[in-house]
Amino acid sequence: MARIGVTGMGTMGAALALNIADNAFDIAVHNRSPEKTRAVLAGAGELTERLVPAESLEEFVGSLTKPRAVLIMVNANAVDAVIEDLMPLLEPGDLIVDAGNANFNDTRRRANSVEDAGLLFLGVGVSGGEEGARFGPSIMVGGTPEAYAPIKDIIEAIAAKFEGDPCADFLGTDGAGHFVKTVHNGIEYADMQLIAEAYGLLRADGRDMGEMAALFGQWNEGSLQSYLIEITSEILKVRDRDTGKPIVDVILDQAGQKGTGRWTVIEALKMGQSATAIESAVAARSWSALSETREAAEAAFPVTGGVASVSDSDMEAALLATRILTYGQGMALLAAASDEFDWSLDLARVAEIWRAGCIIRSSLLDDISSAVRDELPHGQLMLAPAFVARLNETIPALRRVVTAAMVNGQSVPAMAASLSFFDTLRRARGTTDLIQAQRDFFGRHGFKRVDRDGDGFHGPWAD
Ligand code: NAP
Repeated sequence: MARIGVTGMGTMGAALALNIADNAFDIAVHNRSPEKTRAVLAGAGELTERLVPAESLEEFVGSLTKPRAVLIMVNANAVDAVIEDLMPLLEPGDLIVDAGNANFNDTRRRANSVEDAGLLFLGVGVSGGEEGARFGPSIMVGGTPEAYAPIKDIIEAIAAKFEGDPCADFLGTDGAGHFVKTVHNGIEYADMQLIAEAYGLLRADGRDMGEMAALFGQWNEGSLQSYLIEITSEILKVRDRDTGKPIVDVILDQAGQKGTGRWTVIEALKMGQSATAIESAVAARSWSALSETREAAEAAFPVTGGVASVSDSDMEAALLATRILTYGQGMALLAAASDEFDWSLDLARVAEIWRAGCIIRSSLLDDISSAVRDELPHGQLMLAPAFVARLNETIPALRRVVTAAMVNGQSVPAMAASLSFFDTLRRARGTTDLIQAQRDFFGRHGFKRVDRDGDGFHGPWAD
């Protein structure tokens, strides 16, 4: 018998189950197709004695002590079916945990229906990929404190630790955990895109892979220190076994996406927020799918400019500036969602649990959590004193990098979007006076005046 079970022995489920076993908890394991459960057992070594395998859902539920805790780790589109199969086998007081990448709107719906049946429900975001799930992921929990209490010790034991502090916490009700995970993934999309843009500029500058790997490795020793910069350096060193070429040179430039980046942008737009760096990253992945179109367009509009030559230090500073602005957009989006859904999200804690275990872990997050804890002026990370100073130092470099890219016809959608976001926010008087005039001209929408109180003023065209 075990206190907790995992159903779904795919990449993530198997790794989580072994992590739980590694932390000295017995764990029931199940998969729709039993071969995967058998394979997990066969590869578990000395952890096998902690695993309680089951080949049917009935046997799986029967191997759990009451109140039962079932963690589901299956593809997002299978979660409803698995819950439907589980519900008749469970009793009031039992707990269902969806630990996959669910859309938080689905989590809110599932929390309601599971709780209506007298069961407890948690929607949990797990980040860190297979390696994180096996040895310590970052874990974002949403639901109720009552539902979290029975498994809190297990979750904290298996989570990554940052200076001893578990990178796991209860963040808010219903969809809070999955929403925070979604925004985490959105930031991940943007950070990956920004790094890819820097790589593109270095490549256009004629740098070889070895040079680029060394540069990313050097940046990883400084203020850009992060998992994504670190693995970029590693990746650029690797050669294809068949051809001997650098591995990135034999990889088709079409990026996949499973939806979390797109969900971030959709939710941002629904809440009247902007997440333009993330939106650019999602768009860039979509454009990447259009290989034939891009080939035709390159023939129609050949790149005639020179190379985009920028200094290494400018590139490093530009990446830091854009990373700050991206995290800032993510934090503002989390704050807006927290207000909208009454989550009372502790944004400083969110930044803290992202400091280890997850894909976007970076040295910047420690400073971000401190800045957020001190309260962000106007809710904007860029206005926190520590970040005002860093942006004043780095934005000139971002301008030089974006300018060089533009002049040379290089594609830098996320860098350019970040810079435009920054330049728009730092203008006390922008250009929407004209937009208001146009709206009033064609639709009598009315406007406010700078010199009088009230609204609903019209231009003389109304006469
Ligand atoms: P995976 O390796 O493809 O495994 C998918 C699992 O879902 C398998 O155990 C599969 O069972 C099961 N499944 C699919 N349809 C089912 C159904 N209708 N009924 C019952 N079981 C079904 O996927 P994964 O990478 O572990 O991902 C699992 C979840 O974690 C997803 O939500 C994913 O987005 C999320 N996630 C993944 C990562 C990552 O880096 N991979 C990171 C964070 C979060 P069968 O073996 O019987 O097909």
